[in-house]
Amino acid sequence: MSTRRIIVIGGSAAGPKAASKARRMDENAEITIYQKASDLSMASCGYPYYIGGFFDDRNQLLCSPAGVVRDSKFFWNAKKITTKVNTQVTSIDRDKNMIQFTDLLTGEKGCAEYDKLIIATGATPRKPPIQGIELDGITTLQSLPDADYLRKVRDEGTIKNAVVIGGGLIGIETCEALHLAGIEITLIELLPQLLTFLDKQMAQLVEKYVMSKANVILENGVAAFLGENGKLTAVKLQNGTEIPCELAVVAIGVNPNTKLATEAGLQIGKTGGLIVNEFMQTADPDIYAVGDCIEIPNLLTHSVVHAPYGDLANLQGRVAGENVISGNVAKFPGTIQTGICKVFDYGVGATGLSEQNAIRNGIENIETVVNASLDKPGFMQGKLLVTKLVVNKSNGLILGAQVLGPGDVSKQVAIWAMAIQGKMTVDDMANADLPYAPPYSLAIDHSIATAHIMQNKLNGFFTGISAEQFKKKLNNKEPLILLDVRNPDEYEQMRLGIGEKLIPLGQLRKRLEEMPQDKDAEIITWCKISLRGYEAALILQANGYTNVKVLEGGIMAWPYKREK
Ligand SMILES: Cc1cc2nc3c(=O)[nH]c(=O)nc-3n(C[C@H](O)[C@H](O)[C@H](O)COP(=O)(O)OP(=O)(O)OC[C@H]3O[C@@H](n4cnc5c(N)ncnc54)[C@H](O)[C@@H]3O)c2cc1C
Repeated sequence: MSTRRIIVIGGSAAGPKAASKARRMDENAEITIYQKASDLSMASCGYPYYIGGFFDDRNQLLCSPAGVVRDSKFFWNAKKITTKVNTQVTSIDRDKNMIQFTDLLTGEKGCAEYDKLIIATGATPRKPPIQGIELDGITTLQSLPDADYLRKVRDEGTIKNAVVIGGGLIGIETCEALHLAGIEITLIELLPQLLTFLDKQMAQLVEKYVMSKANVILENGVAAFLGENGKLTAVKLQNGTEIPCELAVVAIGVNPNTKLATEAGLQIGKTGGLIVNEFMQTADPDIYAVGDCIEIPNLLTHSVVHAPYGDLANLQGRVAGENVISGNVAKFPGTIQTGICKVFDYGVGATGLSEQNAIRNGIENIETVVNASLDKPGFMQGKLLVTKLVVNKSNGLILGAQVLGPGDVSKQVAIWAMAIQGKMTVDDMANADLPYAPPYSLAIDHSIATAHIMQNKLNGFFTGISAEQFKKKLNNKEPLILLDVRNPDEYEQMRLGIGEKLIPLGQLRKRLEEMPQDKDAEIITWCKISLRGYEAALILQANGYTNVKVLEGGIMAWPYKREK
């Protein structure tokens, strides 16, 4: 059999993964990566942490796990893969199985033939087509040169004010990086909430926290960038406000890079990504595509999504790398859109469907619960976690989870992601056998406790109310009896201050006469995380009260202003 010729376009995440897997499957294949940028295998997810000074050695963004910089020499010596950096592929001739390319340094053009081609061209950050967008001081954070620019800003230390446009993952990570550089940040988001993969209440908890570090402006877009002598001096918002700044980082999402593929007649889907099958193959059997340039199925909604995540790019690269050698044997079925983001000292992550996303996709029979508790015991410096769980009410199937807080969010999100992919129900999770020792978790892990609350709710033992629903009732001035069952010292330190009565749980049985005569009165109970609130509700129910609700997640999940 003649030597297989594999060409990969794109040399950052998905491309090198595909090329490396192909090499592992076939020692003799002729494998070449064409890369427009001058670097290879850049860890773009690490850029915010390089800019923020979590580490100073730029090479760490380019290193293999063994600490070797993944340059052309590395790819050839370690993997026998030819890499052509600073080389842009300019067209694909599908009739001749050939690509055309240009060396961006010399201008020299060339062509090369392939047996199988893998497109891994990534995505390009969106930029608003508005006045002043070309001014100095406006950047995106997508490429290594972008990261170099922002790291220089940190090292020089002259910039005092910056505006970050876009309250998604990259926008928020950039906020932290620039905050650590001593820069005053204003974060602008066009939508009514940050991090749209979260439900509103969870997003509001994030907003409250981010506001302690940066100015946050929601529901306002950028109308223009203002400047003097070619340099940015202010950002003008749609409501006319001008925010003086010397730096603006635009992080309003990315568009798949599909120009090459479209010009070659390959099909683009409704999200703008290239269409591939589960083998990562386009309609042309000799062309595969992977990473940020494609669209993939959401396994829960069965709709297609553009999911530009580094982990998915690598998984897809591996599948395509195997298939170009072995025929279509490996599959990438799709995504449940699991993601996590560092928001200063909080982790914020989600997997599966949020409540709003489930409703948007026509899944209506759902139940949700919010749980707040520590990730491990207080004596091991446990930290707070808040989880919102979304399940299918008719069969108990877990549909989604959102987790945030200073605790170990990553573990929680990973547990729920596996539960969703394994098609587990709340009852399965209620008895999950997870690892336990005090340095790592509670005897009943936060995820299992969340499943228990949901199980109680589905079985009618627990009637919860979310902070959002509670706030609506307060705004509507509905007649409510509000009961905080913590201790007086806790109440002195922190309280909602919305007209609540304080009766510590331990005194409730003796002070029932202080509760209303009307046993059907609507009573809302809470404590710090609502465990005592739940027990108070059970006492009241046992004493004939028929309409008692527990504030889910207690004060810890209250995203609104508190008196204290
Ligand atoms: C700041 C930042 C933080 C991120 N954080 C996370 C995170 O925490 N978790 C997560 O899951 N994801 C994260 N991501 C997303 C993740 O980095 C991307 O999903 C991933 O890099 C996509 O890989 P890719 O190979 O498809 O595309 P890219 O990494 O964009 O690589 C595509 C490459 O193709 C090259 N190219 C394009 N066109 C051509 C052409 N015509 N010829 C030759 N070469 C070409 C480009 O030069 C580029 O290097 C982050 C991204 C950024 C920018």
